[in-house]
Amino acid sequence: MLNRNLSMFIGCDKEYADSDIVIFGAPFDGTTSYRPGARFGCSAMRNESYGIETYSPYQDRDLNDVSVFDAGDIELPFGNTEKVLKMVEDRVKNYIGDKKIPVMLGGEHLVTLGAVKAAVKMYPGLCVVHFDAHTDLRDEYLGETLSHAAVIRRVWDLLGDNRIYQFGIRSGEKFEFEFAAKHTSISRYDLDKVGKLTEELKGKPVYFTLDLDVLDPSVFPGTGTPEAGGVSFMELIKAVMKLSDLNIVGADIVELSPVYDQSGVSTAVACKILRELLLIIGGKK
Ligand code: MN
Ligand code: MN
Repeated sequence: MLNRNLSMFIGCDKEYADSDIVIFGAPFDGTTSYRPGARFGCSAMRNESYGIETYSPYQDRDLNDVSVFDAGDIELPFGNTEKVLKMVEDRVKNYIGDKKIPVMLGGEHLVTLGAVKAAVKMYPGLCVVHFDAHTDLRDEYLGETLSHAAVIRRVWDLLGDNRIYQFGIRSGEKFEFEFAAKHTSISRYDLDKVGKLTEELKGKPVYFTLDLDVLDPSVFPGTGTPEAGGVSFMELIKAVMKLSDLNIVGADIVELSPVYDQSGVSTAVACKILRELLLIIGGKK
C-alpha cells in the first residue's frame, strides 16, 4: 500500500474535525539576541518524537486517548517580524474560533505575542502563566520593541497588571525585576509556588507559555540563551501537572534550538514535556 510521507508528532494523528487540540509549529528565530537556531525546534520535536512512547507513566494516560491534530509548521517570512506575528495571530484565532485549543511549538519566544493577541481577543479575562529563566520584560532590545527579550513586556501591554504569573526566573536587568515587582506576579529561581495558581486562577482562561530554558542547562543545553541554576526535569513535569485544574485555552513550548543539542537529549526532553502537556490539556475534554 502506498502511504503519504506525513511528518507529525507521535500520537497526534487525529483528523482536524475530531480534534480538541491543534499543535502547529512557528519556526521563527529572527529576533534571537544571542545564538540563533530555534527555528529548527518544531521540526526536531516532530522527528525525534518517535523516540518516546505515547503512554505517560506519570499520568497513566496515553496520547492515543486524546484528540490532537498536528497542523505542521506555518510558512513564515524570515525578516518580517510583524508579518510573522500577524500570521501566528491569524492561525490561533482560527483554531480558537473552531473551538480547538492551540499548542504552538517554537521557534523563539516572541511568537507567543501573536498567539496571546488572538487569545485575549477571544477571552478578554485571559491570564498568562510563564515559565522561563528570563524575565523577558525589557521595553526594547537593541532598539527593537519586538524581541524575544521583550515578549512578556509586550504581553503586559495587552493584559495590564496582575494577570501575568512568572516562575523560575533567574536572569534579567535590575529594572526588569523592579517592573515585575510592580506589575506581574514573579517567583524567582524555582517552580515551587505553581500550586497556588489552582486557587488564584480558578475558572479564568489561561494561556501557558513555556520557555524551555527554565530547565537547567545540564538537562537542557539545546537553547540559545542557556542560564545556569535552573530546575530539573522532574520539577518541571510536576509543575506542569499542577496546571491540570486550570482552564488552559492555549499554550506554547519555545526556545528549543537543536543545533546546540549535540547529544539530542534536549530535543528528547522537549518531546516528553510536550506529551505531558498535551495529556494535561486533553484531559479536560
Ligand atoms: Mn528564556
Ligand atoms: Mn523567554
